[in-house]
Amino acid sequence: MPQHNVPTPWRDALLAVLGLFLPVACLGCGQPDHALCPPCRAVLAATPRRVRLVAGVRLDAAYEYEGLVRILLLELKLRGRVDVARPLGVRFGALLRAALAEAPAGAVVLRIPPSPAGARRRGFDPVVLLLARGGARRTGQLRRTRAGRARAGHGQKERSAVERVAATVGTLRASGVTGQDVVLVDDVVTTGVTMAEGVRAVRAGGGRVVRCVAVASVDD
Ligand SMILES: [Zn+2]
Repeated sequence: MPQHNVPTPWRDALLAVLGLFLPVACLGCGQPDHALCPPCRAVLAATPRRVRLVAGVRLDAAYEYEGLVRILLLELKLRGRVDVARPLGVRFGALLRAALAEAPAGAVVLRIPPSPAGARRRGFDPVVLLLARGGARRTGQLRRTRAGRARAGHGQKERSAVERVAATVGTLRASGVTGQDVVLVDDVVTTGVTMAEGVRAVRAGGGRVVRCVAVASVDD
């Protein structure tokens, strides 16, 4: 299973411990003492799940990417607020465990690689952290091809849908997946083209994607 670029569990553990000692205000409403106060936890709990198809594979997203979920994910990814990993990660981890329970025995979990710029800036992988806090097992990772590294970070937003798909094909590679059942994981699925590229890469490597799981999905 490819393990490249996966931060050490020690670093994630250290960040989680540091998070316990930071002065805390609720990220949803600013109330002191809680990273997420009880009323905001209730809002999080009421945020719906999302199910959609990506490249013909069922994607289970723990949350719709909106409101409080969007704020919490951005705080985690951009400001390193690792204290939100536990409330966000519980449902994500449960979805991954359910996907594995329904998958054929021996299925492996592979993460869609984060953008190189984001990974460098953060120094930790939010998906690995969320899964650790959600009680799920370690994941491997797909790799970026040389073309994928060159294209990463070129603004996807200004492109048309066709251009986005064309620019994504061939950017990921899966090795060691021949005959493997694979569950793909990522944090946020927006257009789905990156996740679809992951599905393509696994299939090209001789594997089969049985489920995709994400923290959040943008509703089409
Ligand atoms: Zn609150």
